Amino acid sequence: MKHYISYAKKILTGKARLTDKEKFSVIIYSVALVHLFLSVIFGYFRVLPLFIFNVVSVLTYLSCTQLIRREYFWPVYCITYFEIILHSFVTTIFIGWQFGFAQYIIALIPVGYYICYTMNTGHRKMGIATGSAFFATASFLSCKLLSFFTTSTYEHLMHTWELKLYIFNSFCTFIFLIAFSLIFISEIRITNAQLCHQNEILDKLASTDPLTGLYNRRSMDVFLTQALKADAGFSLVMCDIDNFKGINDTYGHDFGDIVLKEIAHITTQQVGSNGYVCRWGGEEILILVSSSAKETAGRIAENIRRNVANHVFELNNKWIHCTLTLGIAAYKDGDTVEETITNADYNLYQGKRSGKNKVVA
Ligand code: GH3
Ligand code: MG
Ligand code: MG
Repeated sequence: MKHYISYAKKILTGKARLTDKEKFSVIIYSVALVHLFLSVIFGYFRVLPLFIFNVVSVLTYLSCTQLIRREYFWPVYCITYFEIILHSFVTTIFIGWQFGFAQYIIALIPVGYYICYTMNTGHRKMGIATGSAFFATASFLSCKLLSFFTTSTYEHLMHTWELKLYIFNSFCTFIFLIAFSLIFISEIRITNAQLCHQNEILDKLASTDPLTGLYNRRSMDVFLTQALKADAGFSLVMCDIDNFKGINDTYGHDFGDIVLKEIAHITTQQVGSNGYVCRWGGEEILILVSSSAKETAGRIAENIRRNVANHVFELNNKWIHCTLTLGIAAYKDGDTVEETITNADYNLYQGKRSGKNKVVA
C-alpha cells in the first residue's frame, strides 16, 4: 500500500517516472489482488476449478515478484498476458461469457503498448506490443465464439452473482485503463519538461560565450537587426581592455581570463536593462544601448570605465588594476550597422591613441 501511494504521488505530481520495476510491481500486485478476491468468491460458491485456477494465479504472480526483482521483465510480461487470456477462457468455459471476465483482455492492449513503449530495459519492442495486441483481439473473439459451443457446468452456482461480478470486472478493467492512461500522460509530461529544459540549455549554449557568459556575435547580429527595425534608434559602445597582452604575458593566461570574466560582469551590471552586451572579439566587448541619445550611452560607458579602473583583480594572492577604453557611436538614419560599428571602433582607436582608459564619443 505504501508503495502504491508513493507511485501515485509520482504519477500525479509528474515529477518522476515509474521505473520498470515499479511499473511491473503495480501490475503484478493489482492483478494478484483481483485474483485473490475472485478465489474467495469462487471458493464461497464452490466453483472448484476456478477457485484452484485463481489460487494458482495468485501464487504465480507472487513468484513473479522474484523475477521482477531480478529484472526479468519479459517473462513477467508474457506470464501476465497469457494468464489473463487463459483466465477469460477458463471462466467462459465453466461459468459463461456473461460475467464479463473477457473484458480484462481489452485492457491488456493499451497496457501492453505502454509497457513495451516505455521499457527502459532493452530496446522498445513495439513489434511485441502489436503482436500481443492482435493475439489479444483473436483471443477475445475466440472466447466469445467458444461461449456458443460450451455448456457452462457451474453457471447455476454463480447465477445470483452474475450482475455483481460483471460490474466488478468492468470496474477493475476501467480502473486499469484510467490508471495506465494517467501514467502514460505523466510520462509524456515529464518527457516534454525534459525536452524544454534541454532546449533552454542548447539555446543558452548557442547564444552565449562560455568564458564570460556574454552574448556571442551571432546573438548580437539578431539584436542589431531588431534595433534597426525598431525605429527608436540605438548607440554602440566598443570596449577594449588596455594592455591586455601585457597582463597575459606577465600574470598568465588564467589571470587574463579572470580579468575578462570580471570585466564582463561589471559591464553587464552597468548596462542592466538598457541594452545588450556581447563578446565581440578576443577581449573586445560590444554594447548595444537601446537609445540613440549619446548621453545615455556616454553615462553607461563612463560608469563601466570608472568601475573597471577602480576594481582590483585577484588570482593566487596577486592583485592588479586594469583599464578599459571605450568608443561610442550613435546610429544615424541612413547608416548601416557596419558603419556604426566602424565609427565606434574609430572612437575607440582615438581613445587608445590619446592615452587609453578613456571614453570617446
Ligand atoms: P591595447 O591596449 O592596445 O588594446 O593593447 P592590448 O595588449 O590589449 O592589445 P590587443 O587588444 O591587441 O590584445 C589582444 C590580446 O587579448 C591578445 C590575446 O592574447 C588576448 N586574448 C584574446 N582572447 C583572450 C582570452 O579569451 N583569454 C585571455 N586570457 N586572453 C585573450
Ligand atoms: Mg583588442
Ligand atoms: Mg586591448
